[in-house]
Amino acid sequence: MNIIFALLIAFMARAEIREAPSMVDALADIRPGDVVVFDIDNTLLETPQVLGSDQWYTANVAALVKSGLSEDQAGAIALKQWDQVQRITRVRTVEKITPHLVRSLQRLGVMTFALTARPVQLIETTLQQLDSQGIYFSSHGYRFHPAPDLRLRHGIIFIGINYYKGPVLNQFFAAQGLKPRRVIFIDDKIANVQSVESALAAAGIPSLEFRYGAADHEVQAYRADLAEVEWTYFLRHGGLISDTQAAQKLRGKVQSP
Ligand SMILES: [Mg+2]
Repeated sequence: MNIIFALLIAFMARAEIREAPSMVDALADIRPGDVVVFDIDNTLLETPQVLGSDQWYTANVAALVKSGLSEDQAGAIALKQWDQVQRITRVRTVEKITPHLVRSLQRLGVMTFALTARPVQLIETTLQQLDSQGIYFSSHGYRFHPAPDLRLRHGIIFIGINYYKGPVLNQFFAAQGLKPRRVIFIDDKIANVQSVESALAAAGIPSLEFRYGAADHEVQAYRADLAEVEWTYFLRHGGLISDTQAAQKLRGKVQSP
């Protein structure tokens, strides 16, 4: 009987994973008492050039693994390079309307958080980047620092690449004694969406997960050749060039004898 009851609760709490082509789609059905949790990269923010983008990081890891490194080694190197670029790059929001939507939620009294795979070393940089786009979260007085590499700052939970988002989110809610009426989670990566969906369902927290797709076209159009030119420039000059400038350099190379 207990098992049937537990299954029934799990079924009732079971969340749905949906596709959201835009932020408006993901936030269309917000109700009072909802808690909204945003991913950052390719959900709230993106870089204007391929260097420093999430897709650059992913491609970098894949290339390093192909060259013979382990997943861990490759991840560590790619993260270090990504970190270097984050410290100097400008960012923009994936959609222009996003900062306005986040503020509207907050005005309605909806609690908002961000949950990111960015490491704790990037806390200050991340706060500056979000500030440059007028996006703010509030810690609501909560404290969460269960491990050196896991930390809440200004409403943003930084988990790095050693944890899964779902279990950390549960741990965070449990640590604060928070029992959200419903969680809305928005992330461009299906693995994160599934992680949060199954963790919250197991904890009996009703939720609605969205796989956010507004940056998909840029991920699909990723050009390793441009990233290579931009990375070489960065190493030589410590600065960034645009994709257009990188493309011009590439064309120049092809044309020169
Ligand atoms: Mg992301």
